[in-house]
Amino acid sequence: MNEKKLAFGYTVSKDRQIDFDEASLELYNKVCAAEPSIRLCISCGTCAATCSAAKFSDFSLRKLILQVRRGITKGLQAEVSKCMLCGKCQLACPRGVSTRALIMQINMNLQKTGK
Ligand code: SF4
Ligand code: SF4
Repeated sequence: MNEKKLAFGYTVSKDRQIDFDEASLELYNKVCAAEPSIRLCISCGTCAATCSAAKFSDFSLRKLILQVRRGITKGLQAEVSKCMLCGKCQLACPRGVSTRALIMQINMNLQKTGK
């Protein structure tokens, strides 16, 4: 059998588990109280597909929201700073998530906690 692998441009992702000793929903609860539309997100990725910042970086609003929901805050400050607050994602979101307000809330709370 030919062992040579074809390069399709995809890789196998490393497995991920949520470490409940490290994960904290503190940020999610604060953001949720200020911007409840985070609950409407269905992780469809439309925002990421239309994102201006994603054209120049690996930024994904879908991933950012998922991490906040899962209580994974490590590295979030660097991620959220990639957003240019252009608002395109808000126009595209099929669930009416108030994305700009959400991003600003995440950023503000991360700055407060210094994470
Ligand atoms: S487009 Fe809206 S519903 Fe879809 S992942 Fe983005 S924020 Fe969530
Ligand atoms: S507001 Fe931020 S996340 Fe939304 S499309 Fe613009 S750069 Fe992307």
